[in-house]
Amino acid sequence: MNTISYTVGNNLYLNITNRCMMACPYCIKHKWDNKFNGNDLKLEKEPSVEEAIKSIGDPKKYNEVIFCGYGDALVNPQAVKEIAKWVKDKGGKVRINTAGLANRYHGKNILPELKGLADAISISLNGTNPQEHNELNRPMFKEESFGEIINFAKEAKKYIPEVTITAVELPGLDVSKVKKIAEDAGVLFRPRPYLEENE
Ligand code: SF4
Repeated sequence: MNTISYTVGNNLYLNITNRCMMACPYCIKHKWDNKFNGNDLKLEKEPSVEEAIKSIGDPKKYNEVIFCGYGDALVNPQAVKEIAKWVKDKGGKVRINTAGLANRYHGKNILPELKGLADAISISLNGTNPQEHNELNRPMFKEESFGEIINFAKEAKKYIPEVTITAVELPGLDVSKVKKIAEDAGVLFRPRPYLEENE
């Protein structure tokens, strides 16, 4: 089944792609065969912008409409922009969850294009140095990814009102060090629980 959107609490999550710039072994794609919170998030086919919009309904019903996946929606910034514009025009709030590698992936700064369309962006940084980050997340750009992500977060501040670096409380990861990196970059920090059990 193609689950394009799903709710968790008062938020609506959008699953518009399973593609990602990282291949984290702890991702539910690998760990739980794409099953999360009673939803099968494996996409047989990526939805069109129209299909994604149709799946949202009234965005004002939710605290936030969140581009999440399991994949990184910023592999397709055009779709994100069109869907986000629709949500904003309807009075909703938009957050983008991302691996923070979109600028490197596209070879250009895509963040100015998100101005006025995203209220918040959450950028995963699961690692305290390039080596650890590469080992934990298996990103496309290997050890160069760590610095890319921090620069992406700093750049995002110019265009998106709320920028947060998040870190999953993975066994052995010192999230207090990631918090310090976020503070030094001038963005917010939020730890995320490491889920051992699927619901
Ligand atoms: S960044 Fe997120 S979606 Fe991408 S592989 Fe890692 S956990 Fe999965």
